[in-house]
Amino acid sequence: MTASTLEFESLPGIGRRRAAEWRGLGIETAEDLLYHLPFRYEDRRRAAQVTELVLGGPEATLLVTVRRPRLIRTRRRGFTLFEAQLEDTSGSATAIWYNQPYLVRSLVEGKRLFVFGRLSKTRMRRDPVLENPDWEAIAEGDLEGVHTGRIVPVYRKLGSASSKALRRAVHSVLARVAAEDFPEPLPPELVSAIGETSRLEALREVHFPSASEPEALASGETPAHRRLAFEETYLVQLALVARRGRALERAERPPYRVDEDWKRAVGKRLPFRLTSAQQRALREIRSDLVSPRPMYRLLQGDVGSGKTIVAFLAMEMARENDRQAALLAPTEILAEQHRANLERFLGDDASRIGYLVGSLGLKARRTVLEGFAQGSKAFAVGTHALFEPDVAFRNLGLVVVDEQQRFGVAQRESLVTKGEGTDVLVMTATPIPRSLALTVWGDLDLSVLDERPPGRRPIRTVVREESGREKVYRGLRDQLAEGRQSYVVVPRVEEGGKEDLKAAVETHRVLAEGPLADHSVGLLHGRMKSDEKDAAMRRFVEGETQVLVSTTVVEVGVDVPNATVMIVEHAERFGLAQLHQLRGRIGRGAHDSYCVLMVGGEESDAARRRLAVLERTDDGFEIAAADLEQRGPGALFGTAQSGLSDLQFVALALKNPELLEMAREEALRRTGTAEGLAEAERVLEGLRPTWKRRLAWAGIG
Ligand code: ADP
Ligand code: MG
Repeated sequence: MTASTLEFESLPGIGRRRAAEWRGLGIETAEDLLYHLPFRYEDRRRAAQVTELVLGGPEATLLVTVRRPRLIRTRRRGFTLFEAQLEDTSGSATAIWYNQPYLVRSLVEGKRLFVFGRLSKTRMRRDPVLENPDWEAIAEGDLEGVHTGRIVPVYRKLGSASSKALRRAVHSVLARVAAEDFPEPLPPELVSAIGETSRLEALREVHFPSASEPEALASGETPAHRRLAFEETYLVQLALVARRGRALERAERPPYRVDEDWKRAVGKRLPFRLTSAQQRALREIRSDLVSPRPMYRLLQGDVGSGKTIVAFLAMEMARENDRQAALLAPTEILAEQHRANLERFLGDDASRIGYLVGSLGLKARRTVLEGFAQGSKAFAVGTHALFEPDVAFRNLGLVVVDEQQRFGVAQRESLVTKGEGTDVLVMTATPIPRSLALTVWGDLDLSVLDERPPGRRPIRTVVREESGREKVYRGLRDQLAEGRQSYVVVPRVEEGGKEDLKAAVETHRVLAEGPLADHSVGLLHGRMKSDEKDAAMRRFVEGETQVLVSTTVVEVGVDVPNATVMIVEHAERFGLAQLHQLRGRIGRGAHDSYCVLMVGGEESDAARRRLAVLERTDDGFEIAAADLEQRGPGALFGTAQSGLSDLQFVALALKNPELLEMAREEALRRTGTAEGLAEAERVLEGLRPTWKRRLAWAGIG
């Protein structure tokens, strides 16, 4: 019998129906069940005396004998009470179970039990009683139960199975499996590095702790947890690194030649000096480009850190090496902005840009495609339109993806494969700690812009409650009177949902009819078609609308220097990092900017405290770290894409970056050669199906 074939049906208390239900939830084998981990524990080790119980006191474990059990049928039809006296050497207490008439058969006179519960007051009895306490029969001499007499695991429900049912199922699975059923996915060096605990031992200890103290269990930081976390971390890293290895292996190309004094040459063309972070990122990019293997790099930097110019310079290096470079943006408006900037950057060479977006006319599109195919267009700037199958290049060498979180890996690859040995640079403005970046984007090398160009004006951020709304509008009208523009952001209720639409429409109506009746107010929401969105955005960019009410402006890196005010409604519903991104839309011009975070509802006090970080600092990394602490890693991403929601130990891995670094190093070392890579793929292939599903986002299976 192996863990992956152990039949649920044969286990006490599980049965066919439940097994089918669990299968539907992705729990297909006994091993899967063991990876459904407790989310907390209860310390039921010490047996208390019955007379120690006090009304309203904590839950306690008792070791008792059943006396005078009786089933009481009440006047209410179908409602039963089962009552018994629970007696130990100190005295006795009454226990009542509702609607469990079958207890008559198990809780018979003289039966010895572990009981876990607390005294409470009920209308049925004058004295306090134990209501529906957890209980477990004990055989003489066996003082360690499943549900009591130890530190017991508490589980989230799995389908219709309660924590108690799960505890019993896990316990019987653990009693039936042996170490051989759990092959070791970790290389031996790593097993010894993390303390020689086998997988099965670790699982046993995590479910039914024998050696761990409650505090360590509460924080999930026991050696057993660490062992399982390390296993997950290693497999994720192996998957990511193997994917990257495979991609690179396919993609040799002649190394670039980038002159030693390229920097001086481009420096002359820039209107400013690069920050030292920009220079460092460029050095990293250059060293990728002059190596025989293509670049596969993530450029991460807070809003306004100056990623674009770094991308332009990389594109220029490609052109110098007679390779075409494409810049991909998530929206037309952003693509257009990039085109305008690139034109300015290229000066006389601006005619070599081919601009390709969905709204382009047929004839113009044909001309652009010809330019790409012949190579007269050295630069491609565009949107999803670049993915189209009839878009071909003479010699595409570099793909830059802006705001990469908006694209799937498959989409990105559909452009990358239009070239041979294509170098890839993806950019994101989500600032996260390195350890998290390695988990989410571990197939990429990482360059970080941790410095802002000088001269940006700070944004004044304030948190305001409903009572301050009128004053906020007065301030807004003042800004509008001076010719400035403003965003009003409404939270998304659900992705493109009806409620979402209503919230935006309603806010727009209230503003347009009330406090902003004399101004032009535009609307942008998730239910609009993408050309409608672009049009609404364009009217704002061109100054036709003064105030833009929007749910979707969030991820659009659009640049409207004249916009100096952002009002965020229900700011408490946003994460800190998201709010920080949002306010990056203002403070881009010569005027002072203001971000107002409106909080409402009963929890406005708590919200105020939470959001205070944003009033205090403008450092995206610090803000992301605070967000991580408040809401966990899933909150920083669109989880579906990052795969974080499929991992169980991200939080622990983040708290122990040394684990992650060790896992990554080992994964890199192992996949460094062709044989190593093949071996890694065999390990990943051999994983059980549930594991593969969990790693699907990392390119497994
Ligand atoms: P992001 O990283 O958010 O994409 P951008 O690339 O749009 O940021 O740059 C933000 C602004 O800063 C742009 O107006 C850009 O021209 C300017 N900028 C970039 N690098 C520098 C620099 N080294 N010195 C001064 N201004 C810079
Ligand atoms: Mg940008």
